[in-house]
Amino acid sequence: MTLRFHNTLTGNIDEFVPQTPGKALIYTCGPTVYDYATIGNLASYIYWDTLVRILMANDFEVVRVMNITDVGHLTSDADEGEDKLEKGAKRDGKTAWEIASFYTAAFIDAMNQLNLIKPQYLAKATDYIQDQLNLVRKLKDKGFTYQISDGIYFDTSKFPSYADFAHLDLDAQKAGARVEFNPEKRNHSDFALWKFTPTGTKRDMEWETPADLIEESDEKVMGFPGWHLECSAISMSILGETLDIHTGGIDHIPVHHSNEIAQSEAVTGKRFSNFWLHNEFLKVNGTKISKSLGNFFTLADLENKGFTPIDFRMFVLQGNYRNEGNFTLEGLAAAKNRLHNWRNVAALRHQTHDTIQADEEKNQNEKTVSLYASSQAIIEAISNDLGTPEALRIIDDSFTKILKARLKNINHQTLIKFLSTIDYTLGLRLVDSTPDINDDLKQLIIERNSARIAKNWDKADELRKKLLERGIVLRDNENESIWEYKD
Ligand code: AMP
Ligand code: ZN
Repeated sequence: MTLRFHNTLTGNIDEFVPQTPGKALIYTCGPTVYDYATIGNLASYIYWDTLVRILMANDFEVVRVMNITDVGHLTSDADEGEDKLEKGAKRDGKTAWEIASFYTAAFIDAMNQLNLIKPQYLAKATDYIQDQLNLVRKLKDKGFTYQISDGIYFDTSKFPSYADFAHLDLDAQKAGARVEFNPEKRNHSDFALWKFTPTGTKRDMEWETPADLIEESDEKVMGFPGWHLECSAISMSILGETLDIHTGGIDHIPVHHSNEIAQSEAVTGKRFSNFWLHNEFLKVNGTKISKSLGNFFTLADLENKGFTPIDFRMFVLQGNYRNEGNFTLEGLAAAKNRLHNWRNVAALRHQTHDTIQADEEKNQNEKTVSLYASSQAIIEAISNDLGTPEALRIIDDSFTKILKARLKNINHQTLIKFLSTIDYTLGLRLVDSTPDINDDLKQLIIERNSARIAKNWDKADELRKKLLERGIVLRDNENESIWEYKD
């Protein structure tokens, strides 16, 4: 199937062509681990998980790296302000190392709960300090860097295509320069590669600046990497000089990704990534997610309100990554309800049998529900720039068809295959979350059916109630009774 994605580099929906046929090298900008991930951050990782899954469904081998920013991300993108990790450490009365380790574990836990496929490489910035320093050295040797009192900077004027990726208007940027602009910088858009620990201070995370990188200093100068540097250093160290796909939120386009491109391409002279995918932001009740507004939801907050991580995953998949999302609790409740209905369709597999021939739906009678075309249509919809809303619509239509059919016309194997396609591409755990009921419950259903056939309505009602108390609802069709989960 042809895969197409919106590529920020070209501004078009381009057919995905990897460097090596059948293999996709992907880099995803990871979280800054100074706090719990918000549902906005998590939405972004759900989108990129869909990307990985659809590549795999199209038989690609995916090699993926995600960094963990555990040092150097300052509170302002203009290389000013405090390091978020050091700030978080003060807030929680811990060291920056402890903060990093705690919130990295929390992030991995959230990934597991959301059923996100773990990248083969989860790389911490602090584990790649030497690689980052080597990159600074190469940039210095090529004349792209300069030193000012607080660190070593990249001179964006030496990289003529700097403004191209984000279509930046550098003159306008200069004219509107904010107060925080550091007057020692040569150009407004220049950015720190390596910052020096301010004199008289000691950071939790700091490393000695190699002597050959500093101009005129007899003393040891401690320092730490600028935030942008880690992504270039880590991705090139693990995946090589050119990526197939780089992903991140749209906020990264004008600064972080423009800087990644500049510092990587300045060193290699090659294109850093052939595809750049960016997700739009998720808002909460129409407003930007921010701590001060108190709408900083985490997975735990949603769970406290009675929602599971997979409910949230369903909510996110209902939208397209290129459209701004709006999170509301009502919207989440609707997603939860949709998922519940889907689970009850998944549970039908315990109540169906193999009709005639399992494979290829060939020799079946014409009433047998066919799902092969729907499976293909789901993959096609997602292959088309991650069209998950369309995929979900196809699933709804197919499930409606299944619910209308008699059980004997639903082939057990066909249904299982269809559910596996859904789980594989959308990660909704439909199969895992819908176990068969136990023999006791099955016995009660048999007894109730007998009572019904014997027109013993009192007994039938009593047994129905008993089942309900144990979480099972019976849906009676003309000729058959189907069990469903109450919750
Ligand atoms: P951070 O931990 O702040 O570096 O963010 C991690 C990722 O989440 C980045 O790729 C951001 O672009 C993305 N992101 C942050 N906020 C949102 C949001 N509200 N909606 C979607 N993505 C977001
Ligand atoms: Zn990055």
